[in-house]
Amino acid sequence: MTKTLNLTEKLKQYFGFDTFKGDQEAIIRNLLDGNDSFVLMPTGGGKSLCYQLPSLLMDGVAVVISPLIALMKNQVDVINGISEENGVAHYINSSLNKAAIAQVMEDIRSGKTKLLYVAPESLIKPDNVEFLKSVKISFYAIDEAHCISEWGHDFRPEYRNIRPMINCIGQAPVIALTATATDKVRTDIKKSLGILDAKEFKSSFNRSNLYYEVRPKTNDVDKELIKFIKKNEGKSGIVYCLSRKKVEELSAILQANNIKAAAYHAGLDNIPRSQTQDDFLMERIDVIVATIAFGMGIDKPDVRFVVHYDIPKSLEGYYQETGRAGRDGGEGYCLAFYSYKDIQKLEKFMEGKPVAEQDIGRQLLKETAAYAESSVCRRKMLLHYFGEEYHKENCGNCDNCNRPAEKIEAQKALEIVLRTIIALKENFRQEYVIDVVTGNATDDVVSHRHDQLEVFGEGEEERPKIWNPVIRQALISVYIKKNIENYGILKITEKGKEFIEHPHSFMIVEDADFDNVDYDGASEGKASALDEDLYRILKTLRSKVAKRHNLPPYVIFQDVSLEQMATMYPVNCQDLLNIQGVGEGKAKRYGKEFWECISEYCKENDIVRPEEMRVRTIAKRSNAKLKIINSIDKQIPLDDIANAMGLDFDELLTEIERIVYSGTKVNIDYFLEEVMDDDCIEAIYDYFRESHTDCIETALDEFDGSFDEDELRLVRIKFLSEMAN
Ligand code: ADP
Ligand code: MG
Ligand code: ZN
Repeated sequence: MTKTLNLTEKLKQYFGFDTFKGDQEAIIRNLLDGNDSFVLMPTGGGKSLCYQLPSLLMDGVAVVISPLIALMKNQVDVINGISEENGVAHYINSSLNKAAIAQVMEDIRSGKTKLLYVAPESLIKPDNVEFLKSVKISFYAIDEAHCISEWGHDFRPEYRNIRPMINCIGQAPVIALTATATDKVRTDIKKSLGILDAKEFKSSFNRSNLYYEVRPKTNDVDKELIKFIKKNEGKSGIVYCLSRKKVEELSAILQANNIKAAAYHAGLDNIPRSQTQDDFLMERIDVIVATIAFGMGIDKPDVRFVVHYDIPKSLEGYYQETGRAGRDGGEGYCLAFYSYKDIQKLEKFMEGKPVAEQDIGRQLLKETAAYAESSVCRRKMLLHYFGEEYHKENCGNCDNCNRPAEKIEAQKALEIVLRTIIALKENFRQEYVIDVVTGNATDDVVSHRHDQLEVFGEGEEERPKIWNPVIRQALISVYIKKNIENYGILKITEKGKEFIEHPHSFMIVEDADFDNVDYDGASEGKASALDEDLYRILKTLRSKVAKRHNLPPYVIFQDVSLEQMATMYPVNCQDLLNIQGVGEGKAKRYGKEFWECISEYCKENDIVRPEEMRVRTIAKRSNAKLKIINSIDKQIPLDDIANAMGLDFDELLTEIERIVYSGTKVNIDYFLEEVMDDDCIEAIYDYFRESHTDCIETALDEFDGSFDEDELRLVRIKFLSEMAN
């Protein structure tokens, strides 16, 4: 019968819309045909209409289960607004008194009411159940269905009772709808509702207009946030924090900095809360600082940025919250501040909870941390998390795509991982697999006797930090998958088995290093703030100076240093020391010509130098750096230093390189002489003196295997230290 029904006409008649959005029509037809449906559609996709329209066309009353009392009223108003008289839609929840409920029941009995919204806790009330048993139910709609699953971001235990209630009231088709669900959550929902055969309608979760960025959260996070908001002056934005206390604090800080901001959290009284919501909608305030409670009910289409001041507890929460930006398809900047400390804090908060819940919470946190630390396209990771494949290599609209990290070959590492997963009979989680691969004989590993396996420790030679990104990117590329039943357990796919048979290149990007960043806000807006003209002038000056000293240009100042100079306009020695990569040695040796040139340029072009740049605090030297410098002073062999600090040798080299590049001199001759012949040192040293790049790959090629990477790097450290600093 539904084939002949002209739904578009009905859509127009009831809702005034000309066409269906996305899968709406197919979903509605499936429901009219009496089948169960599962609808996954991002926020704003038009889920409500999928049950509203059919309810008007079918016999009986549709029961809509929805968790939010505030939204219920709103939806009922909308439906009554399109009808000739009130009573087509009603709701029952704890806010109604007896008389009001009696009126609702009467309207339903008379056949006037087509849609009944109920909160799950009202559904189980015996009076309501008895009543509903006595009327014809057209279908059941479960909105925000992810609330059923403990693996979702908004678990509501009452949602677990829905199926038993339906069985008790009377059978009718079921339609479940949600805007976020991973494979795990999706399976949970279908099981709990007993609709395993439901037809699935899945829209893409890609929000192509949203820009995703993650920055390390440092002590300067407040300052950075203020800068960010000021750059977006006049635009509407939401800043999410995890605690009410932080919400209050932060909104006060923003206000003190002349930002039109207000706090919003569930602990505030109703009146100031709805006032704030109103002010935001009417644009009397620009920024709402909120706990996640904010945003569920409001639908402002032109929120231009969403900032996560604290990292959210799950990626679903993150997706949901960032989803509130750019609903109109316009700009939506999603910025999250991340520090591993926050993850640890959240883990600590969970300690009082039941073990099973803690376990779930930890897994969800791990996914969030992985997302934040990864150098893979953020869009790709998010979509993968929601079971969707994103085929483009580069989305062009996230930080990782805009500043792509170098790729490294991980073919061997992947082979080891895959073979280990098989050796472990596909029965263990990521951390455990990594323990076995790296030869970490934990109590757990030993008790399973997995230290006896052939694969145990097979990956010892690789850098320990490589394993998480290898596994994560193998998941994205579907060489492995996570078990849905027992979340977190790694299984191998057909594609993975195929890879073991015929291994091939597997390029990955390493994780960003959030522990060791000397974050100074310099990367923010670098491109836009950079004075291109000055940059060119400085480059020319650098070539001139380099020629005079008979040194390659990068030895004088690195590109990043010039970029910063062309952004911050240092005009004296003190200013120059604030530039990344400029230590005292460099400033004294080469600085004068540069700051004089910049000062001249500023005068000529009437440039007002950014005030705050001048007061930037001198970069703090982390403890680790001090320790390394002291140890080298004491002439402790580098491998011993590495051991003592729990670093791989090449991680230590990276640290030393950072130290040298930022302008501090270190003398490692004592060690070099120990491990290398004098002629070799000299040959490499001369090479760097002549070469136009300090790139190690180029040097490796040039020497064609005569020296290994470590040797080249060691001599480069000596060279840079002596020539540049
Ligand atoms: P969701 O619940 O999926 O987040 P809603 O059901 O609240 O989304 O719908 C979002 C918006 O889209 C609403 O303003 C609704 O009126 C509008 N909408 C829904 N279906 C259509 C359609 N077919 N044509 C135009 N607008 C629609
Ligand atoms: Mg909705
Ligand atoms: Zn991307």
